[in-house]
Amino acid sequence: MSIVFAEIVRTDKLFIGFCSLIKRPFLRTFTLQLVINMKRILILGSTGSIGINALNVIKQFPGKFQIEALTVNTRIDLLEPQIDEFKPRLVVVKDDKLALELKKKVKGKCEVLKGIEGLCEAAAECDYDILIGAMVGFAGLAPTVEAIKRGKRIALANKETLVVAGELVTSLCRKHDTELIPVDSEHSAIYQCLVGENINEVEKIILTASGGPFLNKTKSELSNVTVDEALNHPNWKMGNKITIDSASMMNKGLEVIEAHWLFGLPKERIKVLIHPQSIVHSMVQFVDGSIKAQMGIPDMKLPIQYALTYPERFKNNFERADLPKISSLTFFEPDFDKYECLKLAFNALEVGGTSPCIMNAANEVAVDKFLKRKIKFSHIPELIETALNKMENHKAPDLDAIFECDKETREFVTNLK
Ligand code: NAD
Ligand code: MG
Repeated sequence: MSIVFAEIVRTDKLFIGFCSLIKRPFLRTFTLQLVINMKRILILGSTGSIGINALNVIKQFPGKFQIEALTVNTRIDLLEPQIDEFKPRLVVVKDDKLALELKKKVKGKCEVLKGIEGLCEAAAECDYDILIGAMVGFAGLAPTVEAIKRGKRIALANKETLVVAGELVTSLCRKHDTELIPVDSEHSAIYQCLVGENINEVEKIILTASGGPFLNKTKSELSNVTVDEALNHPNWKMGNKITIDSASMMNKGLEVIEAHWLFGLPKERIKVLIHPQSIVHSMVQFVDGSIKAQMGIPDMKLPIQYALTYPERFKNNFERADLPKISSLTFFEPDFDKYECLKLAFNALEVGGTSPCIMNAANEVAVDKFLKRKIKFSHIPELIETALNKMENHKAPDLDAIFECDKETREFVTNLK
């Protein structure tokens, strides 16, 4: 009887409207959850490009998702309207002073925590079903690990978490039976291509890359490119750090390591192809030669939605790919000599241990220096290579060793001239 009732109200917008009249957030969430299996969401990094896209996806499905907690670094100006619209029970601001300022402004509308401790506390103690990992950089690792230990579904955009601690993160997921669903469009594409398939029948995976804004520049021309040119990505609108990573192809390097840990394949079976149209998001080639590709317009809303609704697909009204208009799809091999960061990432994966962590920390500092116009674009791979040569590599590091390695590498690269 209750199943029949649930089926009737599942599609009934009136019921959702009725629930919105319930004043107490706890009672509203409880009623919706009881009847339509609503999922509670924590977003780490709600004011970034992925975070905002995630909230736009959630808005499309009233009554299906409830925002429990939102976290940000500093942008309380963007967080405040999110609090009014999505009514989270908890927010975390990484910056201590800004957290206090927000607390005064929101006047009890929600609980406000601060600092990295606050981020970890939210992930470790808040009531939620899915954590969307939309923070940028190494900083996302600690709270994500807290969520993994609780067996929560992780919709992971924060690729750096897997790059620096892939072995630990994936073994923790196995131990706690945690679903790790990729949000990165290439990995979401591969995940979708693998549904119903046997991983042992995969010959290789093919990650596509747009080639970024400097696709048609030579290696020597790269030394004089400006910050504005590097931030002008032809196909994707993203945060600054990943946009620079896309221009240097470090983004694809990070994604090769991410794919290695997500799908358990050695680097020899992970291939990168340049595909300037960004319509084929990635491919899987099977042992019989068959290739499956996942396609769509370059828009992160779809991979975010898939990670939230998997294994179901929800109907949406997002823009569709118009294939006759796109008309041609092209693919070619990347130039490893020009894209030095891609080569460094394949090497770091081969060396293993803390090598990917050193590479990631050096890259984060180098990108920051480039964005502040302290170094040239072509210095980014130089700083990373220096760090990889100078820092000690630890085999099979535990979490403490990874945090130490990240800290020491940052200090080293910050002080490099
Ligand atoms: P962004 O810079 O736009 O947003 C980052 C978010 O994280 C912000 O909300 C910010 O407040 C928060 N944040 C940053 N540093 C923090 C810190 N130290 N402590 C706490 N919070 C912090 O970044 P983005 O483009 O949304 O990317 C987020 C992640 O998703 C990255 O790992 C990126 O590689 C990955 N990703 C992004 C896209 C995209 O389209 N933007 C696509 C695929 C993967
Ligand atoms: Mg990607």
